[in-house]
Amino acid sequence: MTKILVTGGAGFIGSHFVKMLCKEESNYVFCLDNLFTGSDKNLESLKDKNNFEFLNQDVRDEISIKVDKIFNFACPASPIHYQRDPIFTMTTSVTGTLNLLNLALLHNSEFFHASTSEVYGDPEVHPQKEDYLGNVNPIGIRACYDEGKRAAETLIFDFKRKKNLNVKVARIFNTYGPNMSRDDGRVVSNFIVNAILNKDLEIYGDGNKTRSFCYIDDLINGINTICNPDVKSEKPFNIGNDKEFTILNLAKLVLELTNSNSNIIFKSPLSDDPIKRKPDLSLISEYNWQPQIELKEGLKKTIKYFQTILL
Ligand code: NAD
Ligand code: UDP
Repeated sequence: MTKILVTGGAGFIGSHFVKMLCKEESNYVFCLDNLFTGSDKNLESLKDKNNFEFLNQDVRDEISIKVDKIFNFACPASPIHYQRDPIFTMTTSVTGTLNLLNLALLHNSEFFHASTSEVYGDPEVHPQKEDYLGNVNPIGIRACYDEGKRAAETLIFDFKRKKNLNVKVARIFNTYGPNMSRDDGRVVSNFIVNAILNKDLEIYGDGNKTRSFCYIDDLINGINTICNPDVKSEKPFNIGNDKEFTILNLAKLVLELTNSNSNIIFKSPLSDDPIKRKPDLSLISEYNWQPQIELKEGLKKTIKYFQTILL
């Protein structure tokens, strides 16, 4: 039996990962989550599985289970949620990650960490490669998340250098799909939910900011790719989709795919909101991984999910 700890497993990405792991009967999966943004509804289909256990716990508190592998997804990821309690967010990244690294060291566990494209801040180079050092405002409203994730990466690579821990880090670019909460607050779910409910789609700024959107299945495959023991790297890996869209184009596409009569309205821009973002995927593509799912196709699957939970 391979014992695996997944933190943040009741959230959007973590719940997909936990389900994938539980399909393998030789895995025993502990899902640790304090439900800050996650929901046990995301794990309902696992409640009768005998290789799954839910621990309602904060990642910053003592964890005393012995596991072979640790996957750390615990951290609020949507700006409205990580800004709700910025000190919680920062300490979740820093103290939570340190806690898990010490646990990994104690039991010689493999360690995976979900980092983020936000470590590049408001990037001055485009697209962003892993060796770009970033442009982050350390005292801005996004810093609790960006700097928290940067500090977590620092800890992880010091544990690798000094203590020889087996670590893998993904810098995840805007990922979307089923199991996002209706109140998540990120752009894809906000637009889909409002389009379905015939409410206004609100764009912060003029709609010319860009993001590159990755469908959840591609991300899960990407994480499995980098966690393969044959993949040796001294660096984090960008994982995402490198097709870039303006936020206005995303809004129009969502309206078209939902057949919605909602209006698009423009609100004030957000502070420190990155102007553009797109991953350079050359490092992970050396291991034969590429995103497969086009935005239109991924949006259709996500719309179907929200129609089932909203209508
Ligand atoms: P999410 O908010 O849906 O999931 C986060 C989960 O972590 C939730 O279940 C939440 O309850 C849990 N959590 C938060 N703080 C915790 C704590 N202190 N102790 C225990 N559990 C805690 O977000 P997501 O999109 O699924 O993101 C998962 C991870 O991936 C995060 O670490 C995030 O930073 C990273 N990430 C996500 C994206 C994306 O586009 N979705 C992009 C970059 C990085
Ligand atoms: N955004 C928007 N309307 C929304 C939610 C987000 O215009 O309802 C914009 C936001 O200002 C940003 C982009 O969409 O420019 C992506 O925002 P999101 O919160 O999804 O992710 P992040 O900013 O972390 O990339």
